[in-house]
Amino acid sequence: MGFSFDTTYKQLDSTLYSRVTPESIANPETLILNDGLCADLGVDTAKLDSEVLAGQDRLEEPIAQAYAGHQYGRFTVLGDGRAMILGEHVHDGTRYDVQLKGSGRTPYSGRGDGNATVSSMLREYLYSYAMRNLNIKTSRSLAVVETDDAVERRRTEPGALLVRVMNSHIRYGTFQYVASQASDELRRFTDYVIDRHYPQLNAEDRTYLEFFDAVMQSSIEMVVDWLRVGFIHGVMNTDNMSIDGETFDYGPCAFMNYYDEGTVFSSIDKHGRYAFGNQRPILRWNLERFAEALQPLCTQSPLTYDELEGKLDEFEDRFDAQYYTMMRRKLGIDSDGEKELVDEFLKWLRKSNADYTNTFLELETPGTFDDPAFATAEFERLRNELAAVGLDEGSMQEANPRYIPRNYLVEEALDEYLETGDLSKFERLLAVLENPYTSKDMGSQFQQPPPREFDAEYTTYCNT
Ligand code: AMP
Ligand code: MG
Repeated sequence: MGFSFDTTYKQLDSTLYSRVTPESIANPETLILNDGLCADLGVDTAKLDSEVLAGQDRLEEPIAQAYAGHQYGRFTVLGDGRAMILGEHVHDGTRYDVQLKGSGRTPYSGRGDGNATVSSMLREYLYSYAMRNLNIKTSRSLAVVETDDAVERRRTEPGALLVRVMNSHIRYGTFQYVASQASDELRRFTDYVIDRHYPQLNAEDRTYLEFFDAVMQSSIEMVVDWLRVGFIHGVMNTDNMSIDGETFDYGPCAFMNYYDEGTVFSSIDKHGRYAFGNQRPILRWNLERFAEALQPLCTQSPLTYDELEGKLDEFEDRFDAQYYTMMRRKLGIDSDGEKELVDEFLKWLRKSNADYTNTFLELETPGTFDDPAFATAEFERLRNELAAVGLDEGSMQEANPRYIPRNYLVEEALDEYLETGDLSKFERLLAVLENPYTSKDMGSQFQQPPPREFDAEYTTYCNT
């Protein structure tokens, strides 16, 4: 079977999307196809030739979605400038958006070319693949298809399309867009989103407050998962915040190696708005903007803005609860207490600036890594204190990845492809990241942090 589309978004108000046509591509070439995702979608890989994957052979008319968003704090009306939804695929009662990224211009492209480079699409493929296998809710990548057209960015590269699959691409910014249109569409749209993503709230007496609560919870769980593995999203604009708590928009993202809450890699994030340690306050800020978008509902239903603000007031306690539960799992503490010990450990991390991922592996199995920070009396003392209350290996092994995508290894693999057309380094990285919680007999190179100078200079980019 190929895709089985039933695109409900087209039944919504026509201001919410535009009908679009992917640009024609002379010789699309599938570089990589995600077999595991094909199986999950119930789609036969043989049905997904490069013409289908590049949107040349279509089942229905694609759409680009309209949305708005706060970008670096400023409200802007946007839309899919280089993305098109081919359709909503339904399998086993689950609905998925199948979207092309890099398939040409749309009515929302502005001055953009609608295209993407092959290295940035391979990069998104790899990071989303890693996040999925790290058990973090995320968009998934079905395929990368290279085109014959050159795309000009910092360097000129072949163009490519990514086929991206998500529960949906609806974001906080979609609500901001609908609210900004001064229509009475907001209630209908909110009901649609509840039906699609939070059907458990569909009781007779459900309220929009419960919806806000559920979105807040799924977003908290997502960001706490990012903090668990050292992920820096890099561009947490409200148009990049999924309503279903799925991590998406892998642009300037990166993983932190040496623990520093101020870590920023994105070239345009000059003030560290989206630094590793700022992801929590930014999530709260984004939720405030989302609550404002829901404000028009307050006049139409038994929802008051005070109630929404009351929910926002719960944010810090609820984030803390989720965060400390996660940190206890990383430290192998199975009781509810020991907050002071967790805080003390975090203080050590800040001070030592040790490799975040390897620190927890070293706690589990001392002597694994040859880092002077782990040979200190203070680390030893903390480890002993933790051992006295836990170091439960089971919870540690589930919470602490052995492998993350090390930024420098990702760049090496991408460079090798661009220079020689050889994907084998890239594929080896994918193989390591297939089961990131399981040790592999592949040498320890994949666990090595880069030289500190590499991270100090490493820069990531948007719109590549
Ligand atoms: P992002 O930072 O990826 O969330 O992008 C912000 C907005 O810019 C989105 O609406 C994108 O669709 C749009 N965009 C990014 N790159 C391009 C491009 N090359 N052509 C057209 N639109 C783009
Ligand atoms: Mg985006």
